[in-house]
Amino acid sequence: MEKRYPQDKAASAEILRLILQKSAGQPAAYTPPAYAVWYEFLTGINPPLTEAINILYASNEQITDEIVESLFDRYVSESNPEAQKAFRQNMQRVLRNLTQLADTTGGETGRFSAGLQQYGAKLTGKLDTPMLQELVNEILLDTQTMHNSVNLLQGKLHESKNEITKLQNELQNAKSEALIDPLTGMLNRRGLELQIKNLALNSDFKDKKVAFMMLDIDYFKKVNDTYGHLFGDKVLRAIAEMLKAKVKGQDSVARMGGEEFAVLLPDTSMKGAFAVAEHIRLGIQKGKIRRLDKQETVEGITISIGISDCEANGNWTEAMSRADEALYTSKRLGRNRTTLSGSL
Ligand code: GH3
Ligand code: MG
Ligand code: MG
Repeated sequence: MEKRYPQDKAASAEILRLILQKSAGQPAAYTPPAYAVWYEFLTGINPPLTEAINILYASNEQITDEIVESLFDRYVSESNPEAQKAFRQNMQRVLRNLTQLADTTGGETGRFSAGLQQYGAKLTGKLDTPMLQELVNEILLDTQTMHNSVNLLQGKLHESKNEITKLQNELQNAKSEALIDPLTGMLNRRGLELQIKNLALNSDFKDKKVAFMMLDIDYFKKVNDTYGHLFGDKVLRAIAEMLKAKVKGQDSVARMGGEEFAVLLPDTSMKGAFAVAEHIRLGIQKGKIRRLDKQETVEGITISIGISDCEANGNWTEAMSRADEALYTSKRLGRNRTTLSGSL
């Protein structure tokens, strides 16, 4: 097998020197995953990773521990070992079932074909009407058995094909689908969509109402402009922590992009969600965030919220756009407030 890292001691020592030089200017710690990320970047053996890092550089992003972890999971780690194990076991099961089925059907086909030859031979002999009748009955019975067996095989083959496709997708997802937002460590939009799909399948929740909250930081552009983008990032992380702290275990929180967050509250009424939202909003309003490298704190950051609800297996596109409209109403009425969809 071709070696992933063909460099000898001298060549790798040179790379080590470059890694130290390269990563010294970045906040991420010198952990083994960080080393692997830099190693593969500097040797250029992993083009998708190189491209991802170049994009981060181009947008002046700092390479933080969270980003290193996400790069490592996505581009360096040999997929998820647990997912691989599950895939192998499931695939073996599907193949065992198929083999068994092929054996059974093979035996059945052989018997059928032998039977047909016998009936053919019998037909050429002398037969009276009752004997002919009996022969026809036997042929009919055998044909029916074969028909059932072929139908079964067809059904099972179809099932197996679906199962294999599903396994293939799961493996693919485990490898490439990033569900976590690297800045805040919370779910991203895709992660939240997956939670919604899971809710619709969960028998505890599938017939219940789910409240959906959209949150957007007020005048965030001004926060960035006044205190810098890095401080803006710190605000995003602080708000993420606040959200995580203020919801229950069955609820999900996500960063939908930019300065927008969402909360999913299964089995919660709009009224209940309103109380949670106000608790979050007032908590953020009271919060103080220390500026980077300074003693001074920044106060008065606020958020606007819009809430809608949906059946777990209902029309989520529409529910999300109702929450968005309610959020927009909160903005229009002066920000730092919560609006329930349909209340105005
Ligand atoms: P509004 O009250 O209407 O929501 O005003 P706003 O300034 O919050 O909204 P606008 O959509 O005009 O600007 C959003 C800003 O969010 C602009 C962008 O620079 C900032 N932003 C988006 N993503 C990030 C990020 O990851 N980090 C930081 N620091 N800022 C971000
Ligand atoms: Mg926004
Ligand atoms: Mg905003």
